[in-house]
Amino acid sequence: MKDDLGLKIGLEVHCQLTVLKTKLFCSCPSNYRGEDPNTNICEVCTGMPGTLPVLNEKAVEAAVKIALALDCKISESMNFFRKNYFYPDLPKNFQITQYDKAGGSPIAKEGLVETIAGIIRIRRIQLEEDPGKLSYEGTIVSSPISLVDYNRAGVALVEIVTEPDLKSPKHAREFLQKLRSILEHIGVCDGSLEGAMRCDANVSLFGGKRVEVKNISSFKEVERALNFEITRQKTMANVAKAEGMETRHWDDVRRVTVTLRVKEAEEDYRYFPEPDLVPITISKEYVADIRKRMPELPDGRKARFVKQYVISEEIAGVLVGEKLLADIFEESLRTRMASNLLGSWLAIDILGYLNRSEKTLADMKFKPKDLAELARKVEKKELTENTAKSVVIKAIEQGKSTFEFAKEGAAITDEKSIMDAVKEVFEANPKAVEDAKSDPKAINFLMGQLMKATKGRADHELARKTIEQAITAGS
Ligand SMILES: [Zn+2]
Repeated sequence: MKDDLGLKIGLEVHCQLTVLKTKLFCSCPSNYRGEDPNTNICEVCTGMPGTLPVLNEKAVEAAVKIALALDCKISESMNFFRKNYFYPDLPKNFQITQYDKAGGSPIAKEGLVETIAGIIRIRRIQLEEDPGKLSYEGTIVSSPISLVDYNRAGVALVEIVTEPDLKSPKHAREFLQKLRSILEHIGVCDGSLEGAMRCDANVSLFGGKRVEVKNISSFKEVERALNFEITRQKTMANVAKAEGMETRHWDDVRRVTVTLRVKEAEEDYRYFPEPDLVPITISKEYVADIRKRMPELPDGRKARFVKQYVISEEIAGVLVGEKLLADIFEESLRTRMASNLLGSWLAIDILGYLNRSEKTLADMKFKPKDLAELARKVEKKELTENTAKSVVIKAIEQGKSTFEFAKEGAAITDEKSIMDAVKEVFEANPKAVEDAKSDPKAINFLMGQLMKATKGRADHELARKTIEQAITAGS
């Protein structure tokens, strides 16, 4: 993305605290997934008159952990505000949230996240309740009706607001992936659950007005939605049409943003202090105690991987980019196998396959130790690396928990069989054999032919050695 566009992107990321057993202000289960609509509710989370919210203390602890992980300044005292708006997903007609003006004090401010493309400043972190969920028949634009489900209403959310420091749609995706890995390492938010991490994006170009894009449900969608919105704003600027502050909805079916409304100014929300909840003091001792219990975070783990397992920064970076992937790597290593081999399988071959086929690590049904055993076989030359990798990919493809080897798939490691195969390849390719005496490229060609003839089962090192010896002997 060129700088002369004056591109500014900021994100508001909503993370459900999936680690909690109950909602933010009542004792309804926090896990609403899979329940029939409007069954996971009570008087409090549906805003019945006369009910009072009771703050879930574990939510404060989880939010403090996030604030520490993002290097934020934690407030000595925080309070809650009512954000008033009339929309069917909000049973009380206001959302209990936090505010940074008019005497409001969110749980934390001013943090930093380092990414490859630069530092992202965090403006604030706040605790709030999730609204209910609206569903439409087809798309939001064409649906004649809206359905509402309050099961999600009142679930604890942490909203993380960034400064407009993101340089491109790709950078936004990189940041979100890192954030997800951090949250997974702290263990407060399971980003693989549908809707557990959602984000709104603010985009402006050429110093124009800020456009907010809502309803972005996954990181791939973030990149798509931002790319669409940037192209749209460029086109609008070209036709010299004035842009107002606006809220647009990301339609992930048609992959376009559609206008929802002219964006509300903050005063439209009539923020005022929540009278039913007292301000909460967050003592230094409380924070210090949580700090002591903080787990290892992705950056620290990456540095440790590089040092402890002697793998490259790149591979280590990819591995810690997803907690589960890093866990699989370390669990496999308990059986003492070559970390480089396993690291590159996981970070390059397996992850590459998963991305191409739109699968996730959860589709890997086999145990890390079995994967390690396979790698050990490669080390002991009982198996070629190619065969091992294809067996792994096949197991993921078929959702199997064990590796299956075709009988004819076993590695060819004995010298005689290799010699026989080399002879056949030489007979079929006399010209290449002649060329190989002076041209190393021809040796590669012969290797290729040999692997083809043996369906990739020939031991690489032995095959190459045999070919080279046969050529030297023949010249
Ligand atoms: Zn409830």
